[in-house]
Amino acid sequence: MVTVVFSYDTEEYQAPWADEATKVWTDLLTKYNLRGCFCIVGEKARVLRDRNRQDIIDALKEHEINYHSNLHSVHPTHAEYLNELSWDDGVRRCLMEETIGISDLWDIMERRPTAYCKPGNSWGPQVAYSMSILGLPVFTDAPIEFSPGHPMWFCNQLCLKYHLSFEESMNTNNRFEHMKNNFLNTYTSRTDGYLIMYSHPCCMMASAFGDVLNFKDGKNTPKAQWVPIPKRPKADVIAIREATDLFLEFVANEKIPIATYQEIHAKYIEKDIWISLETAMNILDKVSYELTYHYSGSIYLSPAEIFGVATFILDEYNHIKKLPLVIPVRRPIGPTEDAISEAPTQVSLATFLNCASQTNQTVSSYHRVPSIINLGSIQISPGDFLKTAAHLIRKLSQLPKPNPWVTIEQANNLPTLAEREDFKNMRIGGWLMTPDFHADNVVTMAKRQTWTAKPAVSIDQR
Ligand SMILES: [Zn+2]
Repeated sequence: MVTVVFSYDTEEYQAPWADEATKVWTDLLTKYNLRGCFCIVGEKARVLRDRNRQDIIDALKEHEINYHSNLHSVHPTHAEYLNELSWDDGVRRCLMEETIGISDLWDIMERRPTAYCKPGNSWGPQVAYSMSILGLPVFTDAPIEFSPGHPMWFCNQLCLKYHLSFEESMNTNNRFEHMKNNFLNTYTSRTDGYLIMYSHPCCMMASAFGDVLNFKDGKNTPKAQWVPIPKRPKADVIAIREATDLFLEFVANEKIPIATYQEIHAKYIEKDIWISLETAMNILDKVSYELTYHYSGSIYLSPAEIFGVATFILDEYNHIKKLPLVIPVRRPIGPTEDAISEAPTQVSLATFLNCASQTNQTVSSYHRVPSIINLGSIQISPGDFLKTAAHLIRKLSQLPKPNPWVTIEQANNLPTLAEREDFKNMRIGGWLMTPDFHADNVVTMAKRQTWTAKPAVSIDQR
């Protein structure tokens, strides 16, 4: 069964008349008892409050409230500032700025948002990680999903892509038929997973985006000089509303399963996962051949999670001289900087185990895979450490008396997924940024965080 989400990027705050479009959407959905997911910009929530539009706020509360950044297109955008910062400074700034928007949205809507929707094509892995810290477990309109209609975990957020837009049909001759056929073509071509159809409510009434007029090419037009947003002809607005009404009536009559982001998240949630030593060793054998996510028999474990499993096992062994029978799965982020691997060498078992204990502490206390691991007088990458640890754990399970020396293995430090098309040729920016903007640093950090990436498995498939 395919689950459908209707998602609305609710961002237009420059023209008060465009507020009405949000009300048209909420009322149409409510009319057919369908719950929409409204991803609202912090500034939009504040202007609705300041313009005394409690009627719209109340209408929105009938649906799911989600978050669409504090200021949307105001420069510097996420990608612009993250490109200049280290991982930790980027997370700090994102937490500081976005907490304001989430807090205002929550206060005004009296609802806690579940999903985060990125503004335009501006994002960075630090935003995904910050949102997971702020309690927004879903990343929608994400630049990545595992496969069409199947979500992916990345930086501890459940990433979902947008698939179809209502807007594609708004400027056609036969809007209802176009909307319906567009939807059915994709809906009937899938057998499971999710399908997101989105719109910007303002598009029902405005013929251009205010952000394109006022924030394109890196410019911040002062409020007093904002270019007015052009209105659609009244007849068009009526025709679009009627077509949308017919489409939603069709969806309701056909009993198409509609879900909210909260419901999608509940379907894929992972918490309090423990695995057996046997499962752990099977996964460690696999990861020593390929640094990627691996299947545990119920869910997938990301390379970072597998790293945490390995350090936990070795830390236990270091203290009790026995391998633990069950291991908790923690969710650290990946390395935040590049690592240098030194030449293959040997270290004593005691040195390696003490290092594993310290590294395990880093995973527990700092929720991350370290970028560099200090092993006595040498430094190794987390990829080398994981492969060496995997082989060591297998030997410790087989030999009654362990070898006093450990040979450091060499391995990739970037997971295989970083070579997949969506990560390899990732583009961030577009019309919002200056033409010479290249988010190279953000893309590099996104590739490193493929350590956290893995397919999401729904609860009924575990
Ligand atoms: Zn937007």
